[in-house]
Amino acid sequence: MTFSLHGLPVARGVAIGRAVLMASSRVEVAHYFIEPERIAGEIDRLRAGRNAVIDELHRLQLSVAQMGPNDAPHELSAMLDVHLMLLQDEALTSGVKHWITDRLYNAEWALTTQLEIIARQFDEMEDEYLRERKADLEQVVERILRYMKGVASPVAPPTAPRRKTQQDLLLDDTVDVPLVLIAHDLSPADMLQFKQSVFAGFVTDVGGKTSHTAIVARSMDIPAVVGARAASQLVRQDDWVIIDGDAGVVIVDPSAIILAEYGFKQRQGELERERLARLRHTPAITLDGERIELLANIEMPEDAPGAFKGGAAGVGLFRSEFLFMGRQGHLPDEEEQYQAYRRAVLGMEGLPVTIRTVDVGADKPLDRAAKDDAHLNPALGLRAIRWSLADPAMFRTQLRAILRAAVHGPVHLLIPMLAHGSEIRQTLSLIDFARAELDNRGAAHGAVQLGAMIEVPAAALTVRLFLKYFDFLSIGTNDLIQYTLAIDRADESVAHLYDPLHPAVLRLLADTIAECRAQGKGVSVCGEMAGDVQFTRLLLGLGLRSFSMHPAQILAVKQEVLRADAGKLAAWAQQVLAADDPAALLAKG
Ligand code: PEP
Ligand code: MG
Repeated sequence: MTFSLHGLPVARGVAIGRAVLMASSRVEVAHYFIEPERIAGEIDRLRAGRNAVIDELHRLQLSVAQMGPNDAPHELSAMLDVHLMLLQDEALTSGVKHWITDRLYNAEWALTTQLEIIARQFDEMEDEYLRERKADLEQVVERILRYMKGVASPVAPPTAPRRKTQQDLLLDDTVDVPLVLIAHDLSPADMLQFKQSVFAGFVTDVGGKTSHTAIVARSMDIPAVVGARAASQLVRQDDWVIIDGDAGVVIVDPSAIILAEYGFKQRQGELERERLARLRHTPAITLDGERIELLANIEMPEDAPGAFKGGAAGVGLFRSEFLFMGRQGHLPDEEEQYQAYRRAVLGMEGLPVTIRTVDVGADKPLDRAAKDDAHLNPALGLRAIRWSLADPAMFRTQLRAILRAAVHGPVHLLIPMLAHGSEIRQTLSLIDFARAELDNRGAAHGAVQLGAMIEVPAAALTVRLFLKYFDFLSIGTNDLIQYTLAIDRADESVAHLYDPLHPAVLRLLADTIAECRAQGKGVSVCGEMAGDVQFTRLLLGLGLRSFSMHPAQILAVKQEVLRADAGKLAAWAQQVLAADDPAALLAKG
């Protein structure tokens, strides 16, 4: 039966495909596709885990038998019997083998997927006793997962397409069946793992429009909806799903008419992309001759060549923290970081690359497990530059790597989330220290332009202080909005209050841009606002001449720039700035 779910639209376009559910087991498991030649190995790994649990339960049974009735109640022995029975149940073992063999899921993923399917069957049972056996099954699966944890395979890039079923072949026998990923939550590290993957779209239960999961989805340029609440419970493995990334709607099990309509919308989107592609070599100049710099936001060095090909004038934000994630506490050393930054610099072929120092914390934990170790209010805690200054040796390692990479091309060094003069001074002295360390070692390093992100209202209100120390500023509107309006950007329950057009936000933006321009210093916006075409004209009117965004957004923003008259927009932007309801004025144009 067709039904729809509503969430937040975060990455544009329409995706139609079969649902792949990423189960949210209580035990942390990896999700990846395996190569077909590893099917037998995965099944062996699973068998070894299962046999280890069977042995363990047998041993327990023996020791229970040796105890007196007072030490070992009858229920304990009965529970062990139930667990052993569940372990040997066909529904579990054959189901798991199916996910490994036919879908190429890794063993842990296959096991948690099958657990969810059987758990649903338990939920539907009339008999209360049987219904309660679900908890036993979960315990058994968790035991197997714990045994398997020590022998887990390395994560392989998920590239294997799924095999077609008879029904898929009936629907379309010319293309591989697209897959869409449905999850309760995806950490930024999960998203990176899926970056080169087969998925045509994403849906998550939680997350806000500028959560880092949404940002990575956008950078992958595939339709995504976040904050869809119960999606991961309502959608089932293999359901046909339409993701409308423009409207934030997820349609499950669509009828033929709905499928046809969205198929049409999908083709319209492709045509629009083809049309925009013609603008790739057109310089971004407004009707009145203002040259506008359109830069790329990247997460990994491998994104740089794509940004270059996509027509970016440079990298305006390299979120270096993605190099630090999912590494179980082993942070990249200076050499590894240097190689990564060097690859990004070389990938841009002489165009400037802005490398932001590590910005972890808040919704960007280093590891998925770290997320459970939640602080009361991570967005207000030890994140970004605060994290770096708390570990100066780690920070200097990163600074040395960046300074060394500057030998290979123009590098801008960008510091996130500064708010205090003391933080600025500490940062600058650590940069000097890192330079001196390289000199002492006789290691080559290059000159860098120094920039600060304006992400906290305190920074926006003291721009003059910042400009005494920095060559340029970059406005991180994602955080600036979060901190100005006290809205957790990752929390879907307050997402409706997250408003880039709030007069307070616009005032901070306008004043920061104006002060930089007055002092002849560079200023850009690298938050999500910069890549959203509904704000292009307003930002131009406020005097912004440098925008940094996902490479996939550059051509659409360029189209807006080509149609704009920056001079005329300046007067209009002042009206928007003075309005009680700027959104209404913006809508009128
Ligand atoms: C921002 O806050 O706008 C920004 C660009 O940084 P991030 O999204 O990585 O926090
Ligand atoms: Mg930020």
